[in-house]
Parts: sequence; structure tokens; C-alpha cells
Amino acid sequence: MLGAMGVTLWGPLRTADAEAPAAPREARAEAISHAPATSAPTVVPTAERDGRAREIAALDWPALRARVADCQACRLCEGRTQTVFGVGHPQAHWMIVGEAPGEQEDRQGEPFVGSAGQLLDRMLLALDLTRSEAPPQRQVYIANTLKCRPPRNRNPEPDELALCSVFLRRQIELVQPRIILAMGRFAVQTLLGSTDPIGRLRGRVHRYGERPVIVTYHPAYLLRSPADKARSWADLCLAAAQLAH
Ligand code: URA
Repeated sequence: MLGAMGVTLWGPLRTADAEAPAAPREARAEAISHAPATSAPTVVPTAERDGRAREIAALDWPALRARVADCQACRLCEGRTQTVFGVGHPQAHWMIVGEAPGEQEDRQGEPFVGSAGQLLDRMLLALDLTRSEAPPQRQVYIANTLKCRPPRNRNPEPDELALCSVFLRRQIELVQPRIILAMGRFAVQTLLGSTDPIGRLRGRVHRYGERPVIVTYHPAYLLRSPADKARSWADLCLAAAQLAH
């Protein structure tokens, strides 16, 4: 049954390119979610914050990319190798929103290239979608809520999410996706402002402005809890049905 639904396409990783030992982010998050950030939150005065948001909201793709690359708005800039902007079709119909770069992403400058990313690619393939070059119906756009890797892959802090969300907002405005997949709780918090668990939010269509948003599990969580792949597949099917609607 699940095979018929394409879930076998998201099977175990090929061992040759399995990511190194670190557990998936959401698994690690369980262990360190109470670990505080090592320095105080970045407090930006309201006028400055609003000015920054207005400036970013007016940027085109090259200027936005450059602004992200130079960003020093929060403490995460201190530990990054590089920022991780996003990849895919600039007018993609599908936009995938994840959490934050991990070790591999920080090294390579591309979102979802570790083991969670390999699972994400298989999930996309099951819908005939890809991150590689293709028309906008098939080539997705992938971005994270945070553009810098949190130290030791700890969970994003609220001030980091708030400061970085203006970049994601602009990416969404530029792409104008027809459907957004919010993967995991930090994507959901950023896009929908909800702290409800994924299990309570999935299975229905939410909105980011006018745009439909489907909530689903983060691929790193699915690596730890493969039994939920069937639910995740149902979420992808809901997104496809919404798009065809
Ligand atoms: N997890 C994410 O949410 N994003 C990445 O880019 C990698 C892992």
C-alpha cells in the first residue's frame, strides 16, 4: 500500500553518501533544546528593525543574495562558514521551507544537502519535482528560515528567527510560489506564527497571506520516525491536490 503511494522511494540512504555521524537536527534538538544560546539575544530598536525590513522588502534577487551574504544582524554570523541562501527556480510553483543549515549546508552553501536533504530529494521525486534545472512547474525553490548554521545545530532562537524572517519573506515575494511546504516547527512558527505541534496543524490548508501553506514533518524527523512517512506522503498529496485545485 505504501509502496503504491511512492513511500518506498524515500527508503534508506545509500550508504556511500550517508551523512556523517551526527544525528538529524530534530533528533539533536531533543537533546539540546534546553541549551541556551551562548550569548544574549540581539535586541534591535523598533525603528531600526522596521527600516531594515523595509529595505530588504525592496531588494531584487542579486541584492537580496548579497545582503544575506553580508548579514551580521545576529550572533550566528560569528560561527558560519558561509550563509545558505536558497536554491531552485526563481518562479517555482512549489516552495519548500526548512529550518536552518546544518554542517554540510554550512560547508557547501546549499540547503538540504545532508541526509535530510537526500530524503527531501526522494520525496520531491515521488511528486516528479526536483531541485535541478527544470521548468517552474517541476523545479522547486528551497529555502530555510535561518540562513546561518546555529552552533552545534542547536534550535533557532526567537530573535534569530525574527531577524532572518525578513529574508525568507522577500524570497517568497520574489518567487511567488503557488504552494508552500512548511517543513518542521520552525518553518511553521515563522510562516504561520503558530507553536502548535505539526501533528495538530497538518492535514489542512493554511495561508501565508494569500498563499496556501501545507504543514508537514521535517525530513530529519522522518529519518528518525519513518512510520510518519505515510503521513508526510499524505501531506505532499494534499499540497499537489491544492495546487491542481
Ligand atoms: N535541515 C534544514 O531544515 N535545512 C537544511 O538546509 C538542512 C537541514
